[in-house]
Amino acid sequence: MSDWHGISPSPYSTGLAGRCPRCGEGQLFDGFLKVRPRCSACGLDFKFADSADGPAVFIMLIAGFVVLGLALYVEIAYEPPIWLHLVMWLPLAVIVCLALLRPMKGLAVALQYANKAEEGRLKK
Ligand SMILES: [Zn+2]
Repeated sequence: MSDWHGISPSPYSTGLAGRCPRCGEGQLFDGFLKVRPRCSACGLDFKFADSADGPAVFIMLIAGFVVLGLALYVEIAYEPPIWLHLVMWLPLAVIVCLALLRPMKGLAVALQYANKAEEGRLKK
């Protein structure tokens, strides 16, 4: 349709920032990871937002890859004792996961919104 740009702002910028995918103003989250029932700015219903465990799988893969890579590097470069590995990497893995969880979930919700918004339109 003529207002194709109705689905801007970009799902990437709104999703990663945890904002409403339609208006980019309202907050998507209520608390750390709970999705609000609707946008406080434009009233968009967030019921469609069911990202399930999709983002968590990505995050574990990314975090696992990053932490494992760092651990291997440190092992080769410094050969620290095993307890030092555990003390360093376990908290880091948790921090990396938590840091990624919210933006990734926001992104998943925003992309879901963008895809559904497209389905309702005429083909490009
Ligand atoms: Zn909104």
